[in-house]
Amino acid sequence: MRVSIAAAGQSESTMFTVIASGRQAGSRASVIQTYRVCLQQLSALFKRLGASGANILAVTPAGSGDPTPPAAAPSAPVASAAAADVPPAKPAASTPKKKPHGKVPVNTYKPKNPFVGKVTENYSLLKDGAIGRVQHITFDLSAGNPQLEYVEGQSIGIIPDGVDAKGKPHKLRLYSIASTRHGDNYQDDTVSLCVRQLEYKNEAGEQIYGVCSTFLCDLEPGSDVKITGPVGKEMLLPEDEDANIIMLATGTGIAPMRTYIRRMFEPREREANGYTFRGKAWLFMGAPKTANLLYDEDFLHYEKTFPDNFRYTKAISREQQNTKGGRMYIQDRVLEHADEIFGMIENPKTHVYMCGLRGMEPGIDEAMTAAAAAKGLDWSKLRPQLKKADRWHVETY
Ligand SMILES: Cc1cc2nc3c(=O)[nH]c(=O)nc-3n(C[C@H](O)[C@H](O)[C@H](O)COP(=O)(O)OP(=O)(O)OC[C@H]3O[C@@H](n4cnc5c(N)ncnc54)[C@H](O)[C@@H]3O)c2cc1C
Repeated sequence: MRVSIAAAGQSESTMFTVIASGRQAGSRASVIQTYRVCLQQLSALFKRLGASGANILAVTPAGSGDPTPPAAAPSAPVASAAAADVPPAKPAASTPKKKPHGKVPVNTYKPKNPFVGKVTENYSLLKDGAIGRVQHITFDLSAGNPQLEYVEGQSIGIIPDGVDAKGKPHKLRLYSIASTRHGDNYQDDTVSLCVRQLEYKNEAGEQIYGVCSTFLCDLEPGSDVKITGPVGKEMLLPEDEDANIIMLATGTGIAPMRTYIRRMFEPREREANGYTFRGKAWLFMGAPKTANLLYDEDFLHYEKTFPDNFRYTKAISREQQNTKGGRMYIQDRVLEHADEIFGMIENPKTHVYMCGLRGMEPGIDEAMTAAAAAKGLDWSKLRPQLKKADRWHVETY
């Protein structure tokens, strides 16, 4: 059977028109049958048609003009809708449409007039033997007028004290918010960050520490800090409580994921937010060592408590090996679970979130390309479609 899947990646919506030919049961006449299915149903339809020996003549995105079947239908066994046993196509209206996040607060505090918040706590997230330094830092927002409000998936700006090499005040740096809108204390008046101290050696071999990340990691409780924002709408969670959420995080890219997961599974947070998550959430977390895993105990606990709704898969590069005997990176885990991931992505309720260092993007893209190809899909075409449908969310830095 020849199957053209080129159109799958070109679709603007998730609905497809599939034309197949085959013989009716008990008849020698070949018939042409048209199916309208959503992306989620496409691979099931292909399987059924394949099993029945039908020829797939065309696959086109609905709304792009009906495909024209060839004049002479090839002879092949039956491919009727009933024989194919395909669930009825859902009306297009049932697939989620891109919806502007209208009520999301943005830029309540700007760099010229930042809010000054007090540090309430600042503690290490790393275990003995970890590489580097990563801190969980919380700021009191209660003195704000107006109060700096935010939602899960947004970032805030931090203006470090002091001046740059030219004697000018430092510019702000952005940090993904690591607490839900209710804060770690559920009082709606704090914001937390997860900050890695930037350190590297320059060309002369000198050890360099990042300005703002060092400023933040060194803060003592009670210190005043200039905060701007909030900003960002790229990483917002869908409101749909039945959505599925695939999360790909490395290092401090876990910050937005922690907010989603707490919103979904932390009992006091659930009481505060009234959000009853019923979908499937799957976190892929990459770290160099076990000691570098961030919020690991919390995620293990949620996985144990909500086994039907939360799955946690780790890639620990310096301790685990991939199938080729190399270091285990997050993209290796994506490849390992390609079938399930794409099974989920075919569902229009599934969103994918990626956050962490920019360097993670090519590896993930490569893994998604291979995983998509295994399902007969073209990732370079599918990804922009997911993005357009507001289901592919990336924040890397
Ligand atoms: C939307 C967004 C969200 C973010 N969220 C987080 C977060 O949750 N947690 C977090 O820790 N960070 C986060 N960041 C990164 C953060 O904004 C800062 O960029 C980071 O903390 C470094 O700032 P710094 O002032 O410490 O470094 P700087 O003093 O500004 O130094 C950074 C500069 O150092 C140079 N440099 C860096 N690495 C090297 C290297 N290996 N070799 C040579 N030169 C190098 C580059 O020129 C770079 O511009 C986020 C960034 C964005 C855009």
